[in-house]
Amino acid sequence: MRAVGLHADVVVATSRVYQTTCTLVRSGSEAFCIDSPVLPDELEILPALAEQAGFTIVGLLATHADWDHLLGGYAFPEAPLGCADTTAARLINEPGAAQRELRAFDERFYVERPRPLALSGAQRLPVPGKVEVGDHELELQPADGHTEDGMAVWVPWARVLVCGDYLSPVEIPILNPGSSIAAYLATLARLESLVAQADHVVPGHGAPLDGTRAAAILREDRAYLEDLRERGAAAKLPLARRTGEQRRIHADNASTL
Ligand SMILES: [Zn+2]
Repeated sequence: MRAVGLHADVVVATSRVYQTTCTLVRSGSEAFCIDSPVLPDELEILPALAEQAGFTIVGLLATHADWDHLLGGYAFPEAPLGCADTTAARLINEPGAAQRELRAFDERFYVERPRPLALSGAQRLPVPGKVEVGDHELELQPADGHTEDGMAVWVPWARVLVCGDYLSPVEIPILNPGSSIAAYLATLARLESLVAQADHVVPGHGAPLDGTRAAAILREDRAYLEDLRERGAAAKLPLARRTGEQRRIHADNASTL
């Protein structure tokens, strides 16, 4: 697992699988853990990483309800989970879905966990809205379109945007059942002004980006989605994201239209 400091108050760890990101954000004596790495050894080492950096984790945040972003409780079992009301609703309406998908991943790769994933009682945060950490506030913006739920987190004092599954350097936009191109494009439009102010953008998958690179990916993703809407399966993939796996994701996207 790679860990980088983006600011005195922001550390990002990137998982060895799916490059799923986990962002630790501190203000004073309190810190939040946003999303999670995936592998058990990465989750096990996270408390020591936080402690060494001087971050006391008092809460977990999840950008959306996909299983690979929800594993922070393995690292910080005492910390309560907060998420957008859309995400809390998804966790309630799809009971056990994240646990089933985690189990499928673990069975496929023979991964063992210390205990089952507990997700009950997630605290609902109003989005758009703010959440206090130490003497600062994180700003929460709706980010649906990849899934029907989600939020992006803006860290104003560090000029860092944690955007969930958008603006990835390694993955094309993924449309899940219940999501839509229109909602995805609306989220990109909302993110655009934050990206313009950001020193760093942390995508859900892939290494943190500087603002300029994130803005370029935003333009590529918008062009891809507009092309997908016009031409379906014939749409062109972004130049740097044309691997076999991304072509498979593109075929799935086209089939949802
Ligand atoms: Zn994801």
